[in-house]
Order: sequence, then C-alpha cells, then structure tokens
Amino acid sequence: MMTAVQPKTEVSTITVCNPADGRVVGTVPIETSDQVAAKARELHLFQPEWEALGPRGRKRWLLRYQDWVLDNAEHIADVVQSETGKTRSDASLEAPMIATVIDYVVNRAERFLTDEHPRSFSPLAVTKKLTTTYRPYPVVGVITPWNFPFMMPGIDIVPALAAGAAVLLKPSEVTPLSGVEFARGWAEIGAPPVLAVATGYGATGAAVIANADFVQFTGSTATGRKVAVACAERLIPYSLELGGKDPALVLADADLDRAANGIAWGGMFNSGQACVSVERVYVEAPVYDEFVAKLTEKVRELRQGQDERNFAFDVGPLATSAQRDIVQRHVDDAVRAGARAVVGGKPTGSGTFFEPTVLVDVDQSMSCMTEETFGPTLPLVKVADAEEAIRLANDSVYGLSATVWTRDKERGEKIARRLDVGAVNVNDVMSNGFAMDIPMGGWKQSGIGARLGGPAGLRKYCRAQAITSPRVPTQSKELLWYPASRRRAKLAASVLRAAAARGVRRVGIKPRAGVR
Ligand code: NAD
Repeated sequence: MMTAVQPKTEVSTITVCNPADGRVVGTVPIETSDQVAAKARELHLFQPEWEALGPRGRKRWLLRYQDWVLDNAEHIADVVQSETGKTRSDASLEAPMIATVIDYVVNRAERFLTDEHPRSFSPLAVTKKLTTTYRPYPVVGVITPWNFPFMMPGIDIVPALAAGAAVLLKPSEVTPLSGVEFARGWAEIGAPPVLAVATGYGATGAAVIANADFVQFTGSTATGRKVAVACAERLIPYSLELGGKDPALVLADADLDRAANGIAWGGMFNSGQACVSVERVYVEAPVYDEFVAKLTEKVRELRQGQDERNFAFDVGPLATSAQRDIVQRHVDDAVRAGARAVVGGKPTGSGTFFEPTVLVDVDQSMSCMTEETFGPTLPLVKVADAEEAIRLANDSVYGLSATVWTRDKERGEKIARRLDVGAVNVNDVMSNGFAMDIPMGGWKQSGIGARLGGPAGLRKYCRAQAITSPRVPTQSKELLWYPASRRRAKLAASVLRAAAARGVRRVGIKPRAGVR
C-alpha cells in the first residue's frame, strides 16, 4: 500500500503535512543511495565497539535512552500528532510503549544472549567443549510504515541495538519526523553512533536493503514482497511484518457488552490504522441483532475531530488522502453490493477524516472483507454457528491476528488453535501486542518471522556461531560417553568403528548401569 506518491520532478526534500488540516509541519531530505551507503559504512565502523560492550554495557545506554523517552514523552506525542493528525490519546501511547520495550529487553538481554554449552550428542565430539554463541548482524536495516511513527521503529530498533547490532532506520515518507526524532534522542544522550536514520521514498528503503546485513521490514504485503526479493538477491536474511484482515468471532454465549466495547475499540483505535485492528466481524445468528445494536450505539458515541493536547476526541483522521480513498472505496463497493452503513459511511470535515462506520448485510466476497481496509470500519457478517465463523475467518490470504468472544474460555482457546493466524486474543483485542513474552508475527501473507517473544526476539538479530575446543587434556581412552539405551550404544559402536577405520582414536563406551 504505497501511500505517498513520489513527485515526478526532481526535488531533494519531502514536505510533511498534518493530514487533519493540511498544515506543513516539517521537511526532510530525500537521501540518495550514495548517502545511505555512507551512513551504513559509518555504522559498520562503530558496530564492533558496540558489540564489545556486551549486554550490560549496552543496557547502560539503553536505560539512559529510556530516561530520554520518558522525559520527552509529551514532545514525542507532539511530533507524532503533528504528522499523523492522531488524537492525543493515540499519540500519547507511543513513547511509553517504547520505554516498556526497553525495560523488557535490557533486563533479559544478558540471559537471552548468553553462550550455551550443550554436552555432545555424538561420540566423535565428546571430548570437546561445545559453545553456541550469538553474534549480532553488524547493520540491521529497519524499514517502517506511518501508522505508529515512533513506536514502530522503536519496537525493532531496541532489540536490535540490545543484541549488539547497529541500526539504519528508514522511516515512512509520510511520517519521517518521528523517526528523525528517535535518532536525535539517541545522539542527544551521547550514545555511541550506532543508530542512523535515512529519509526518503521507496528508493531510499531499497538503498538501505542494499547496505544492510539483515532487514526488519514493517509495511504492506505488496512492498514486503519486493523487500523479500531484494534480500534474496543479496542473500541476506529478513523478517517481514505485513498487512492483516483480522477477524473477530462473536459466539452466541459471549458477554455482548464486553464484545461490543472491545470490537469498537479494536476497530476504531488509531482510526483503524493498526495492523492488528479488527477488520471484519462474524456474529452467531442468535445474538446478531442484539450485538449490532450494542456495537452501533458504542460507535455512534465516538467523538471525532482534530485534537490539540486536550484529549477531546476518540477518533482522528486517516494518515493520508490515499488511505481515506481506500476506505471510501471499500464502503462504496459494499453499499453498491447490498450492504448498509448503520452508522457512518462517508468522509467528514476537512482533511482526511472518515466517519466511524458499521456495515451490516455484508458478505464474504466484498472488498471490505477480502482486502485490508486500514480504516475506521467494522463490516459485520451473520453466521449460522461457530464452525461457519471459523471457516470464514480462515478464508483469507492474511493471517495476522484474530479475536474470539465467548464466556467459555476453554472453548475460546480451542477455537484459537483452529485459526490460521499468528496471534489470537480471547475476549480482548491487541492484548498479545502488549504481552512481549510471546511472539508477535503474522502467518500466510501477513509476514515471515516475528518480533519480541522471549529469546527469539533478540536472537533473530544474531548469527549463531558454533565453537568447539578441547575440554580434556588428552583425547584417548576416556570413558566419557554413557549411552542411555542399547540402540544408542549400537549406533555409537558403528560410528566409532567407521571413525577408527579413518584413524580416529577410540573413545570408550560404557552402557549406563541398568540400561538394557
Ligand atoms: P508501505 O509498504 O507502503 O511502506 C512501508 C515502508 O516501506 C515505507 O518506509 C516505504 O518508504 C518503504 N518502501 C517502499 N518501497 C520500498 C522498496 N521497494 N524497498 C524498500 N522499502 C520500500 O506501507 P505503509 O502504507 O507505510 O504502511 C501500512 C501497512 O503496514 C499496512 O499494510 C499495515 O498492515 C502494515 N503494518 C504491519 C504491521 C505488523 O506488525 N504486521 C504493523 C504496522 C503496519
């Protein structure tokens, strides 16, 4: 989903506007591939020192940065709001989220990255000390979208830095100011120069891929595919966090007030511009009418407008006019094909506002059910039973996340295991996104890989290196290996016979007492 069109005439800057009122709020340079390459060279130069600091040394800098984020939270919300037009409450979430990610990551990095020393499985290596060590990719390219312009970069930059990598950020051309601010904070605390930002359009992103050792991409599925191809050309690894079409399954035994509240928030938060927004809703027939009434009432109550610092509104504008046009097209297509907007349904005010919208009489074939909308719309489909809801929920090219609403939590968890998505929240929306201990990633065309979620969230930025060295002074006739079964003893004897034939000195085998 390209949202800003690169101008045809040669210009060297991007003018950033507030989509709520069109006001110009800043400019950034369009960085050329040579400029990006120079930044990457400098990062490569400083990264070994950063790696050598180890998790504890890096923790000191990241905690200073956490202080900077917390001390500047209001200013960060100002910048985010200026280039997205978000409500104050949506903008205010981003800095605290990153402060929390820092807390999670730095207090676990040492444990997650510590060397491992397994005992050898093979009799040929029993005399060796075995080590798996996690060494960072020197430069990680982080390419981000516009929906959370401070949080989205941070959620990947922080684990990459904690792992010992240097980071080259390419923020969205729609909202580059927050990414620039992110890097400015790092420089302001005097931290080592292992974080740089390159602003520009897709070509600048391509230049980042051309110079990085690992790419962490968040954005649309269409661009993600191009990123994967570019990384394949260079044979560098990548992780992709892409689009979604997240279903909500409202079962007949659900607490309908909670479901209506949660789904209203899940669909309208950030004007529906969250990858894990509720994008389509399946409701079991016996509770359909009651649920529609409750949801409509909630959505009708939402206050929409342009916030200052005053938390006056619940829903802001879309980030771009192109995004508003997609929302409009999906609603118009649906209405033309027989759906009804029971609340909302059209653009409103100046700027890029679109009314919070609930669509009923929707069917699975409409574009609002098959394509990512990324706007404040909730299309509802009546289903005969849970089986039909599951089947329709899985009938999508996307597989990011889903929600299930039922008073029977066990049944909810069972249904979760039948949904082809990377995350399922039972009786809640987006809670896995705040959990951090479990992975956050999409299946099918919603992504490859995942972020955060325990050790894997840091190790993804590392290459596992294997080291062997002698662990005993001599390697002959040591009775070091105790097969746990006859089958293992037979296997070992055959391996050792083959090794002896090639001149390898024999290691003794002694079956463990009692083994038959
Ligand atoms: P986009 O794909 O248009 O752009 C994302 C980034 O890629 C931008 O910085 C852009 O400049 C850059 N880019 C464009 N072409 C490139 C190329 N050829 N090589 C390298 N970089 C290139 O996405 P968007 O419209 O900015 O963001 C909205 C999308 O992001 C939605 O689909 C949304 O679902 C997705 N998203 C996903 C997650 C997740 O975690 N799964 C989170 C947030 C947003």
